Amino acid sequence: MELTDGIHLVASGWLGLALTDRCDCNAYLVADGDDAVLVDAGCGLGAERTLALIEAAGAPPVSRVLVTHAHADHAAGAAALAAALGAEVWASAHAAAILEAGDADAAGLTDATAAGIYPPGLAYRPTAVAHRLGDESLTVGRLRLDAVRCDGHSAGHLAFLAHHRAGLALFSGDVVFARGRVALLSTPDSDVSALAASVERLAALRPQLLLAGHGAPVLRDAGDHLAVARDAFRRRALPPQLA
Ligand SMILES: [Zn+2]
Repeated sequence: MELTDGIHLVASGWLGLALTDRCDCNAYLVADGDDAVLVDAGCGLGAERTLALIEAAGAPPVSRVLVTHAHADHAAGAAALAAALGAEVWASAHAAAILEAGDADAAGLTDATAAGIYPPGLAYRPTAVAHRLGDESLTVGRLRLDAVRCDGHSAGHLAFLAHHRAGLALFSGDVVFARGRVALLSTPDSDVSALAASVERLAALRPQLLLAGHGAPVLRDAGDHLAVARDAFRRRALPPQLA
């Protein structure tokens, strides 16, 4: 599903448009010139459907899978997609350590499976990470993509800001969603103060598009959505939760 020129939604679970497996995050294909990347990978159970959607998009070969954070709904599918696409996996140093170890405990998968969020037996396979991303810029064809560190939902979380001709497009992972919603978890690395700082930082970017890890894509005036969460934190309140 093409959202704007060269940006396609290629995975989405029940918190979104239900294109692929129910447990998948939103994953986006970003193509420009002769290059393409994926932002997030889904949980792996929807990988075949995601590969079909990538094929249908008619994009150039995918060179990299950019992982926002190590949670299973975003990262557990990275190994299978990277292998099928011949792509590298790039992630923050924190997420890379979890991915390379295939550490289902550190990824929160073990606890989330016990809580019934994931089906039993969902694999979190050791996944080679070719590059550890910090605050840095990368290019996809002629498109510039900035990796932005933003902890709070989880440790070692990255967002990606694309300098797209339709306007700034923010791939926010699980930091902030449409209508200013957030996802604070009862996990050791979910941190309200860090999330408030991250939302403040992202809201200052005034993106036009907000392409979050779950829920509806926002295709215009996304800064207004981020301002809802930012203003709640400034009032020393909590923004509404995603789910
Ligand atoms: Zn998450």
